[in-house]
Amino acid sequence: MTTSAPARERIPFIMRDLAARYLPAGDLHEGETALAKIVAEREDPFLVLISTILSQRTRDEMTERASRQLFAKYDTPEAIANADPANLVRLIQPVGFYRQKALQIQNVSRVLLDQYRGTVPGTYEELIALPQVGPKTANCVLVYGFGEPRIPTDTHVHRVSNRLGLVRTKTPEKTEQRLMKTVPKEFWLHINELFIRFGKDICRPIGPRCEACSFTSFCRYYRTVFAPKRHRLDQDRRKRSPGRKASRSMASK
Ligand code: SF4
Repeated sequence: MTTSAPARERIPFIMRDLAARYLPAGDLHEGETALAKIVAEREDPFLVLISTILSQRTRDEMTERASRQLFAKYDTPEAIANADPANLVRLIQPVGFYRQKALQIQNVSRVLLDQYRGTVPGTYEELIALPQVGPKTANCVLVYGFGEPRIPTDTHVHRVSNRLGLVRTKTPEKTEQRLMKTVPKEFWLHINELFIRFGKDICRPIGPRCEACSFTSFCRYYRTVFAPKRHRLDQDRRKRSPGRKASRSMASK
């Protein structure tokens, strides 16, 4: 696989490599993100919706901790809608903006009770009309809550897609739109889980572990940023200690 291969041709290679690494049985229930773990325990779109709202601008580990604390006490729209707000605040404290989010999850629970008799609607259009639900949250609920192929796009999916050269976009929203055109639908269900895991494990935001990556032969970031930087560092090192090579060769004589 080389840089000359169009993005669409690279996708099966990328997805198979990541699936072998992170989802060998091909089952999203074996995922390691907070959402995948929550769904593996209880297949409930409501829990996915609440966890996704909690996850906004928050690390996955904190989302999982707050979700578990919350769901141990309040795990239905009715329970959250009627809860003492101070209790909600206390339980979801591990996530950022927990005061705002306590109000938001109570608000969305009330809307579900009023408009959907306490169930979570299963279409993108209905989900996006709920308070606090944007494209990423709606798609997370569809993928993890209903098993519907979509491409939820957070900062990891956005960064990895751009680095690999699958898209060239400035925002996660644009990335989602481009990926939906480029990625064959058979890969949609797993792409969020796989790119998040890869983005946390290898293609990290700062200091990506390119040496441990299978995609260097066509990765745009590797070619344009990582490899030239390493080359410059090697040259600087050689300039700073020009005698090292010579003294090594003297020593070997
Ligand atoms: S080569 Fe580096 S930048 Fe490119 S996908 Fe792999 S880890 Fe990320």
